[in-house]
Amino acid sequence: MKKDVNVRQQIVKNYFEKLRGRCQGSYIKNVNNWCDINLDIDHLFPDKQNEKLITSFEKVVTADLTKLLSIRDYIDTNKIKMTDGLKNYLLKTVYQCNIDRLAFVRDLGVSVCPYCNRNFINSSSRKTSCQLDHFINKSDYPILSVSFYNLVPVCGSCNHKKGTKDFSYSPYDNTIGIDDMLTFSYDIKGVEYLSDLSKLDILIDLGLNKILDKNIEILELEEMYQIHKDVVQELLIKKEIYTEEYQEQLFREFGGVFASKQELEQLIIGAYIDSENYGKRPLSKMISDIGKELGIVRGNKKI
Ligand SMILES: [Zn+2]
Repeated sequence: MKKDVNVRQQIVKNYFEKLRGRCQGSYIKNVNNWCDINLDIDHLFPDKQNEKLITSFEKVVTADLTKLLSIRDYIDTNKIKMTDGLKNYLLKTVYQCNIDRLAFVRDLGVSVCPYCNRNFINSSSRKTSCQLDHFINKSDYPILSVSFYNLVPVCGSCNHKKGTKDFSYSPYDNTIGIDDMLTFSYDIKGVEYLSDLSKLDILIDLGLNKILDKNIEILELEEMYQIHKDVVQELLIKKEIYTEEYQEQLFREFGGVFASKQELEQLIIGAYIDSENYGKRPLSKMISDIGKELGIVRGNKKI
């Protein structure tokens, strides 16, 4: 879920302003007090001079992923608890009622679940319709229940399977790209693979770093993807039809329609082929990886 840093900062700022506007001042004061008493805010947020005036609540709500993980560790190490009253207010009022989930998802520009890349995340036009996963679970860490970077818009299936379990990787982690952590491939088990789906397997290679290990295991993603063998079957057929020569011919004939050869390749495979856009259409990562393996997708050459 990559975005320009300044654009993202503005989205996070707007999110906090709207949230604060919907919360009761007296309760916000209580949350601020709780943070000041229980969290070592100056140590956790060794910020610049001009940020001294920002409240602890704002710091926690707008904290980036690395800071959220530091707060979680601090809470664990110091065995910090919260009273039921404050916890209920944060979970049942602030999280459940005060977040415009529809706007949250719209601002992020994500259409497809970032955990599985299989299902769309919109379910209706109601403000509270989209499901948000708490990357760090809200039950043990209620203070992080409305922190922007702890909220991941996801599909119902992933939300249900993950529950309160810990994942090894958050889609907000921009230190490593998805293409460096996971590659889809396929295996042909018999000559009738073009007519018999049981002769095909979809494989997930997690590479040497295994960063996504836990995510894939908890979501049972390799098993879930086997339902999409027909898509791979189509790609194998497309490989025979859309040879390099035929693609060149199409590009010459319809060159005016496409801004680049990449656009023609995307039209052929029916998915986005660059990691920035995988979240716009289901199965893009799988189709792109296997499309590249088959040679249907060759590169990002601009005309
Ligand atoms: Zn999902």
